[in-house]
Amino acid sequence: MSDSSLLGGLSGVTCDQCGVAVLAGKRSAMQTSVQWPSGSCAVLLSSAAGRPPALVPTCGFLRDSIDRAAHEGRLDASYDS
Ligand SMILES: [Zn+2]
Repeated sequence: MSDSSLLGGLSGVTCDQCGVAVLAGKRSAMQTSVQWPSGSCAVLLSSAAGRPPALVPTCGFLRDSIDRAAHEGRLDASYDS
């Protein structure tokens, strides 16, 4: 996608479970950068239960979706040129 460069090498990934779309990109083999939209994930928000979502581990379904996107080469792996 030509506009991915405008997002700093981040690619859109959709959570399989709740359908929320985030921006994700591989910064290294071990580190994945994720930018959440303002709405965030329903699973994440329900597990937060009123606490700041930053204190809650990310939605496992979304993490799986991101991992799969990375494995399938759908993430912009800028570290691996
Ligand atoms: Zn989710």
